[in-house]
Amino acid sequence: MPTSTLATHREPSTPSHDNPAEQLRAIGREFHARGWSLGTSSNYSVVASRNPLELLITASGKDKSALGPDDFVRVDAHGKVVDGSARKSSAETLLHCLICEKIPSVGAVLHTHSVWGTILSRQYLPQGCLRIEGYEMLKGLEGIGTHDTFEEVPIFANSQDMRELSQRIAARLAHADFSLPRQPFHGFLLSGHGLYTWGKDLAEARRHIEIFEFLFEVSARAATLAGAGPAPGRQQQAQPQQ
Ligand SMILES: [Zn+2]
Repeated sequence: MPTSTLATHREPSTPSHDNPAEQLRAIGREFHARGWSLGTSSNYSVVASRNPLELLITASGKDKSALGPDDFVRVDAHGKVVDGSARKSSAETLLHCLICEKIPSVGAVLHTHSVWGTILSRQYLPQGCLRIEGYEMLKGLEGIGTHDTFEEVPIFANSQDMRELSQRIAARLAHADFSLPRQPFHGFLLSGHGLYTWGKDLAEARRHIEIFEFLFEVSARAATLAGAGPAPGRQQQAQPQQ
Protein backbone atom coordinates (compact mmCIF):
# COMPACT_ATOMS: atom_id res chain seq x y z
CA MET A 1 0.00 0.00 0.00
CA PRO A 2 1.54 3.31 -1.05
CA THR A 3 2.21 5.73 1.78
CA SER A 4 3.04 9.41 1.66
CA THR A 5 6.48 10.47 2.79
CA LEU A 6 4.68 13.31 4.47
CA ALA A 7 2.45 11.03 6.45
CA THR A 8 5.08 8.64 7.77
CA HIS A 9 6.06 10.72 10.80
CA ARG A 10 3.12 9.10 12.57
CA GLU A 11 3.35 5.76 14.31
CA PRO A 12 2.27 2.90 12.03
CA SER A 13 -0.43 1.98 14.52
CA THR A 14 -2.06 5.42 14.19
CA PRO A 15 -5.48 5.03 12.53
CA SER A 16 -5.65 6.61 9.08
CA HIS A 17 -8.30 9.10 10.19
CA ASP A 18 -5.63 10.70 12.42
CA ASN A 19 -3.32 11.10 9.46
CA PRO A 20 -3.37 14.75 8.25
CA ALA A 21 -3.03 13.81 4.57
CA GLU A 22 -5.92 11.35 4.88
CA GLN A 23 -8.03 13.98 6.61
CA LEU A 24 -7.29 16.49 3.84
CA ARG A 25 -8.19 13.90 1.20
CA ALA A 26 -11.54 13.39 2.93
CA ILE A 27 -12.07 17.16 3.02
CA GLY A 28 -11.40 17.30 -0.73
CA ARG A 29 -13.97 14.59 -1.50
CA GLU A 30 -16.58 16.25 0.69
CA PHE A 31 -16.01 19.82 -0.50
CA HIS A 32 -16.02 18.71 -4.15
CA ALA A 33 -19.29 16.83 -3.62
CA ARG A 34 -20.83 19.93 -2.03
CA GLY A 35 -19.73 22.18 -4.89
CA TRP A 36 -17.19 24.21 -2.93
CA SER A 37 -13.98 22.83 -4.50
CA LEU A 38 -14.69 21.98 -8.12
CA GLY A 39 -11.99 20.92 -10.54
CA THR A 40 -8.51 21.78 -9.35
CA SER A 41 -9.70 24.86 -7.43
CA SER A 42 -9.15 25.35 -3.68
CA ASN A 43 -6.29 24.36 -1.41
CA TYR A 44 -6.05 23.05 2.11
CA SER A 45 -3.29 22.99 4.71
CA VAL A 46 -2.52 21.88 8.26
CA VAL A 47 0.27 23.14 10.49
CA ALA A 48 2.80 20.31 10.62
CA SER A 49 5.23 22.17 12.88
CA ARG A 50 5.10 25.49 14.71
CA ASN A 51 8.74 25.95 15.50
CA PRO A 52 9.89 26.33 12.80
CA LEU A 53 6.59 26.94 11.02
CA GLU A 54 5.92 24.24 8.43
CA LEU A 55 2.69 23.35 6.66
CA LEU A 56 1.39 20.28 4.91
CA ILE A 57 -0.48 21.69 1.90
CA THR A 58 -2.17 20.41 -1.22
CA ALA A 59 0.12 20.19 -4.24
CA SER A 60 -0.60 22.43 -7.21
CA GLY A 61 -3.23 21.52 -9.81
CA LYS A 62 -4.82 18.49 -8.17
CA ASP A 63 -8.45 17.49 -8.61
CA LYS A 64 -9.88 17.84 -5.12
CA SER A 65 -12.34 14.97 -5.60
CA ALA A 66 -9.48 12.52 -6.12
CA LEU A 67 -6.52 13.61 -3.98
CA GLY A 68 -3.97 10.84 -3.66
CA PRO A 69 -1.85 10.18 -0.55
CA ASP A 70 1.11 11.89 -2.23
CA ASP A 71 -0.72 14.98 -3.48
CA PHE A 72 0.62 17.09 -0.61
CA VAL A 73 3.87 18.92 0.05
CA ARG A 74 5.54 20.17 3.18
CA VAL A 75 6.56 23.83 2.99
CA ASP A 76 8.32 26.28 5.28
CA ALA A 77 7.07 29.69 6.42
CA HIS A 78 8.08 31.20 3.06
CA GLY A 79 6.23 28.59 1.02
CA LYS A 80 9.39 26.75 0.00
CA VAL A 81 9.06 22.97 -0.39
CA VAL A 82 11.12 21.30 2.33
CA ASP A 83 10.28 17.62 1.95
CA GLY A 84 12.75 17.02 -0.85
CA SER A 85 10.03 16.18 -3.36
CA ALA A 86 9.73 17.62 -6.85
CA ARG A 87 6.06 18.38 -6.30
CA LYS A 88 4.96 22.02 -6.51
CA SER A 89 2.91 23.55 -3.75
CA SER A 90 -0.29 25.40 -4.53
CA ALA A 91 0.06 28.86 -6.08
CA GLU A 92 -1.66 30.31 -3.03
CA THR A 93 0.70 28.75 -0.49
CA LEU A 94 1.91 32.17 0.63
CA LEU A 95 -1.58 33.07 1.88
CA HIS A 96 -1.72 29.91 4.00
CA CYS A 97 1.72 30.72 5.43
CA LEU A 98 0.67 34.29 6.15
CA ILE A 99 -2.48 33.27 8.06
CA CYS A 100 -0.57 30.70 10.14
CA GLU A 101 2.20 33.19 10.89
CA LYS A 102 -0.08 36.08 11.88
CA ILE A 103 -2.56 34.01 13.92
CA PRO A 104 -0.55 31.72 16.23
CA SER A 105 -3.60 29.68 17.31
CA VAL A 106 -4.25 28.44 13.76
CA GLY A 107 -3.77 24.72 13.12
CA ALA A 108 -5.44 24.45 9.72
CA VAL A 109 -6.41 26.72 6.80
CA LEU A 110 -9.06 25.88 4.21
CA HIS A 111 -9.75 27.74 0.97
CA THR A 112 -12.79 27.11 -1.25
CA HIS A 113 -14.33 28.50 -4.45
CA SER A 114 -18.09 28.33 -3.96
CA VAL A 115 -20.84 29.87 -6.06
CA TRP A 116 -22.34 31.99 -3.28
CA GLY A 117 -18.98 33.16 -1.94
CA THR A 118 -17.90 34.14 -5.45
CA ILE A 119 -21.09 36.11 -6.12
CA LEU A 120 -21.10 37.94 -2.78
CA SER A 121 -17.39 38.73 -2.90
CA ARG A 122 -17.91 40.70 -6.13
CA GLN A 123 -21.12 42.33 -5.01
CA TYR A 124 -19.70 43.67 -1.74
CA LEU A 125 -16.13 44.47 -2.79
CA PRO A 126 -16.87 48.24 -2.90
CA GLN A 127 -17.82 48.10 0.80
CA GLY A 128 -14.64 46.16 1.64
CA CYS A 129 -16.53 43.58 3.67
CA LEU A 130 -19.61 41.41 3.85
CA ARG A 131 -21.63 41.99 7.03
CA ILE A 132 -23.65 39.01 8.23
CA GLU A 133 -25.97 39.76 11.12
CA GLY A 134 -28.61 38.15 13.33
CA TYR A 135 -28.41 34.51 12.26
CA GLU A 136 -28.39 31.57 14.69
CA MET A 137 -25.77 29.87 12.52
CA LEU A 138 -23.23 32.56 13.44
CA LYS A 139 -22.82 30.54 16.64
CA GLY A 140 -20.94 27.96 14.57
CA LEU A 141 -18.03 30.39 14.34
CA GLU A 142 -15.63 29.86 17.22
CA GLY A 143 -16.16 32.24 20.15
CA ILE A 144 -19.65 33.41 19.10
CA GLY A 145 -22.41 32.45 21.54
CA THR A 146 -25.45 34.37 20.33
CA HIS A 147 -27.40 35.11 17.16
CA ASP A 148 -27.58 38.75 18.27
CA THR A 149 -24.26 39.74 16.77
CA PHE A 150 -22.56 40.19 13.42
CA GLU A 151 -19.54 39.00 11.50
CA GLU A 152 -17.79 41.29 9.05
CA VAL A 153 -15.90 39.25 6.48
CA PRO A 154 -13.15 41.37 4.84
CA ILE A 155 -13.07 41.30 1.03
CA PHE A 156 -9.87 41.88 -0.94
CA ALA A 157 -9.57 42.55 -4.67
CA ASN A 158 -8.21 39.44 -6.35
CA SER A 159 -4.71 39.29 -7.86
CA GLN A 160 -2.44 36.76 -9.54
CA ASP A 161 0.53 38.44 -7.83
CA MET A 162 0.62 36.50 -4.57
CA ARG A 163 3.26 38.72 -2.98
CA GLU A 164 1.27 41.87 -3.60
CA LEU A 165 -1.95 40.19 -2.46
CA SER A 166 -0.37 38.77 0.70
CA GLN A 167 1.00 42.24 1.58
CA ARG A 168 -2.50 43.72 1.42
CA ILE A 169 -3.92 40.90 3.55
CA ALA A 170 -1.01 41.12 6.02
CA ALA A 171 -1.76 44.83 6.53
CA ARG A 172 -5.38 43.99 7.38
CA LEU A 173 -4.43 41.14 9.73
CA ALA A 174 -1.93 43.41 11.49
CA HIS A 175 -4.79 45.72 12.52
CA ALA A 176 -6.80 42.92 14.13
CA ASP A 177 -6.31 41.41 17.58
CA PHE A 178 -6.48 37.63 17.29
CA SER A 179 -5.56 37.05 20.93
CA LEU A 180 -9.15 37.80 22.02
CA PRO A 181 -11.51 34.88 22.84
CA ARG A 182 -13.66 36.04 19.95
CA GLN A 183 -11.61 36.61 16.83
CA PRO A 184 -12.22 39.91 15.00
CA PHE A 185 -13.09 37.85 11.92
CA HIS A 186 -12.97 34.16 11.10
CA GLY A 187 -12.14 34.33 7.41
CA PHE A 188 -11.89 36.60 4.38
CA LEU A 189 -13.00 36.64 0.77
CA LEU A 190 -11.02 37.30 -2.38
CA SER A 191 -13.28 39.05 -4.85
CA GLY A 192 -14.60 36.85 -7.65
CA HIS A 193 -12.46 34.06 -6.27
CA GLY A 194 -13.23 32.42 -2.93
CA LEU A 195 -13.08 32.07 0.83
CA TYR A 196 -10.21 31.58 3.25
CA THR A 197 -10.99 30.45 6.77
CA TRP A 198 -9.08 28.68 9.52
CA GLY A 199 -9.36 26.94 12.86
CA LYS A 200 -7.29 25.66 15.74
CA ASP A 201 -7.50 22.27 14.03
CA LEU A 202 -8.88 20.83 10.82
CA ALA A 203 -12.26 20.01 12.37
CA GLU A 204 -12.77 23.63 13.41
CA ALA A 205 -11.65 24.98 10.03
CA ARG A 206 -13.99 22.55 8.25
CA ARG A 207 -16.87 23.69 10.46
CA HIS A 208 -16.10 27.31 9.62
CA ILE A 209 -16.27 26.56 5.90
CA GLU A 210 -19.63 24.85 6.38
CA ILE A 211 -21.01 27.69 8.50
CA PHE A 212 -19.77 30.40 6.13
CA GLU A 213 -21.18 28.60 3.10
CA PHE A 214 -24.57 28.39 4.80
CA LEU A 215 -24.43 32.08 5.76
CA PHE A 216 -23.30 33.11 2.26
CA GLU A 217 -26.18 31.27 0.63
CA VAL A 218 -28.69 32.70 3.11
CA SER A 219 -27.32 36.22 2.61
CA ALA A 220 -27.39 36.00 -1.18
CA ARG A 221 -30.85 34.43 -1.35
CA ALA A 222 -32.23 36.93 1.17
CA ALA A 223 -30.83 39.83 -0.89
CA THR A 224 -32.40 38.35 -4.03
CA LEU A 225 -35.80 38.00 -2.35
CA ALA A 226 -35.60 41.53 -0.95
CA GLY A 227 -34.96 42.81 -4.48
CA ALA A 228 -37.91 40.82 -5.83
CA GLY A 229 -40.42 42.61 -3.55
CA PRO A 230 -42.84 41.12 -1.05
CA ALA A 231 -43.41 37.38 -1.17
CA PRO A 232 -46.81 36.25 -2.58
CA GLY A 233 -47.92 35.10 0.89
CA ARG A 234 -47.50 38.62 2.21
CA GLN A 235 -49.51 40.14 -0.62
CA GLN A 236 -52.37 37.76 0.14
CA GLN A 237 -52.13 38.60 3.83
CA ALA A 238 -52.48 42.29 3.02
CA GLN A 239 -55.83 41.70 1.27
CA PRO A 240 -58.78 42.25 3.63
CA GLN A 241 -60.84 39.14 4.18
CA GLN A 242 -64.27 39.27 2.52
ZN1 LIG B 1 -8.16 29.97 -4.93
